Amino acid sequence: MSISYELVKHYPWLPSKKIHYSEIASKDPVDFIKEKIAEYPDGELVARIFNIFKTAFENIEEIKTYKADELNVYLYTILKILLYINNSIPIANRVANLYSKHTYNKLIREDNDFNLYSICKDLELEIKYYDKAVPFGLIVEKDRKQVLQTQFSIHYIDYLKLASNLRDDYRKLVHNALIGGYVLIEKKDLTRLLQEVVRKKLIIEQEKDLSSLDDFKNKILEIKEIKELNERILGEWELKKEEFEYSFEIKYRKGEKVEESFPPCVEDILMKVDEGQNITHIERLFLVFFLHSLEIPIDEIVNLFAKLPDFNRKKTEYQVEFAKKKGYSPHSCSTLKSYSLCMATKYKDKLCLEGYYSKKLDSQRKIQHPLFYVQFKQYRKHKPKEEVKTKNE
Ligand code: SF4
Repeated sequence: MSISYELVKHYPWLPSKKIHYSEIASKDPVDFIKEKIAEYPDGELVARIFNIFKTAFENIEEIKTYKADELNVYLYTILKILLYINNSIPIANRVANLYSKHTYNKLIREDNDFNLYSICKDLELEIKYYDKAVPFGLIVEKDRKQVLQTQFSIHYIDYLKLASNLRDDYRKLVHNALIGGYVLIEKKDLTRLLQEVVRKKLIIEQEKDLSSLDDFKNKILEIKEIKELNERILGEWELKKEEFEYSFEIKYRKGEKVEESFPPCVEDILMKVDEGQNITHIERLFLVFFLHSLEIPIDEIVNLFAKLPDFNRKKTEYQVEFAKKKGYSPHSCSTLKSYSLCMATKYKDKLCLEGYYSKKLDSQRKIQHPLFYVQFKQYRKHKPKEEVKTKNE
């Protein structure tokens, strides 16, 4: 089933692009890029690509310059080529996260269910659409009852394939309603699965055959506009990289004790939670945002709050899920200080009090963000000691 030309312009990662834009696949990439640059002499193509990288490096979740036009399709192809030639997993991950989140936001706003159905079909997913919503669950909260219903179901094999990277407990097959091998799925959850499809299309594996990569890269960078664009992208990355100098995966993995790298401000709140003390609204929010940033599963976060005196499971689940969907970032050190939540002095934490030595800037730097604290501690745990030093070490 091929889908409309219009939809491909909105979502250029769709397989039907091959049908509507068959010339892209048949052309030599260098000729293709040269041709498109000539077609858009006002520099719009280059400007829009640069904006995607810049937005990704700044951790913003919406691509302001995104337009569902023909250029969007060409731009996507060139974006993938640039990610490939730079062969940088952190850069590719940043762009993949931005692009897929942007796609999620676009898809969730689609009021035409048939488009969502067509997109799934184009991706060769076994999907069913019911004209009349099918009830599949009930939420009972105090005196309020809510019937869960949906018009979508997806074959369980496809569901498992797409949900395999999403670690939330509620996504496990056993927690979902099935009819004849199909998982009944709400539109927002189906869209979240599609976000993962898009993310995977943009992430890269580290290229092993470096000589053929170099050959290809040299050919692409012979195009003056692309060479300049790539230099600007890498320059922008350099500027931002300081924040990520010690960055690598700090995502939650079952059995791994990431909490050993938590900063004192988080430790202190966790201690209060553990003792069943009341915590303030700000502390609660900060803790939820912080744990979400590490991709700790929702059910583990909810269970953590179960020790609090005013715990209400349904309400907490709703609030934790809502915060996850919004993708809020945890507060920075300066904000936490303004709320008197910085615990550097109380815990006499050397990293928080003295900062760290930045090789790149050849100077001592202050910790600006609790997430950076975790990254630094994890980096220190995995790298040879001489590579990471705090002052006086
Ligand atoms: S310096 Fe930052 S990371 Fe350290 S305790 Fe204070 S707020 Fe937390």
